[in-house]
Amino acid sequence: MKIAVFSTKPHDREYLDKFNSNNRHQLTYFEAPLNADTTNLALGFEAVCIFVNDKIDAVAIDKLFKIGVKLIDLRSAGFNNVDIEAAKKKNIKVMRVPAYSPEAVAEHAVALILTLNRKTHKVYNRVRESNFSLENLIGFNLHGKTVGVIGTGKIGVAFCQIMLGFGCKVIAYDITESEKLKEKGIEYTTLVDLFKNSDIISLHCPLNLKTKYLFDIKTFSKVKKGVMLINTSRGALIKTSDAIDALKNGQLGYLGIDVYEQEENLFFNDLSESIIKDDLIERLMAFHNVLITPHQGFFTKEALNQIAITTLKNFTDFEEGLLLENEVKL
Ligand code: NAD
Repeated sequence: MKIAVFSTKPHDREYLDKFNSNNRHQLTYFEAPLNADTTNLALGFEAVCIFVNDKIDAVAIDKLFKIGVKLIDLRSAGFNNVDIEAAKKKNIKVMRVPAYSPEAVAEHAVALILTLNRKTHKVYNRVRESNFSLENLIGFNLHGKTVGVIGTGKIGVAFCQIMLGFGCKVIAYDITESEKLKEKGIEYTTLVDLFKNSDIISLHCPLNLKTKYLFDIKTFSKVKKGVMLINTSRGALIKTSDAIDALKNGQLGYLGIDVYEQEENLFFNDLSESIIKDDLIERLMAFHNVLITPHQGFFTKEALNQIAITTLKNFTDFEEGLLLENEVKL
């Protein structure tokens, strides 16, 4: 099958080629993103393979349908960037990689917590300049703190287990509760109680109409003053302008984000010689208690191997008319 692979970076090619060494699938790599303006690149291909910041709205779906694309295969778990309903109407199948390494993302969330808390990013630079002072480096013990987890699916479960290991009290909110987690000592609460009682809140739910701007000015007024908020899920779970206000008034004590509302204009690109026109991220970067990473939670060798293996399996399942195990359904 001829497949157009969009938003590719060298690591995408390396890992997909490694597992497609027999050229079972004809992969053509494009660095460009796929969106309503670039669908012409998919002319002559039966399938497109996309990543988190490709935007496949109803207009893009319509154009892809007209040029004969029958499959959209995501190299990611999240699928908020594809209009699934529009794809269904045109009988275009959408597939994804539902679980490649939940631990990779969970461990990155923990890295954000530890860095923000113990300020290792600052001290790294200080020590390189022979500054061994402890001034302004005081952190807090994680042991005994209450951690609120929103979304206890695959990544949320992995995250809960790590935090239990630190000796934290872990409370959670999800629309479906995990019995296995309850047996491990995780207590499910209402969202309001989670906001009220957590010292650290970590987001592991998908972005959809119900969760968009889960954290806005109203939510920030309900959290414990000085809470640490970690988002490795999707940027628009947090309304950035409201987070900035909450940081200014101290309601939000620390913010660690691996995802950002407007990340498609920034992340995965070297913009070090460009003028950043996004004033919100510029303001965020100015806070000493904000840590931003460029959507790298998934970026481990183990996860990249699994993403490539599942992506190629999805192509094979589709091509051979097998059961589409990883199909995204409404
Ligand atoms: P998952 O489907 O296994 O779990 C999601 C959980 O969220 C489920 O338990 C679901 O019931 C729950 N949920 C759904 N709606 C909710 C709501 N309104 N309130 C509370 N909980 C709700 O998904 P996962 O594999 O754990 O991934 C979680 C998210 O992490 C993905 O949606 C994706 O956006 C993000 N992600 C980020 C990276 C990264 O590199 N930073 C990598 C992979 C995934």
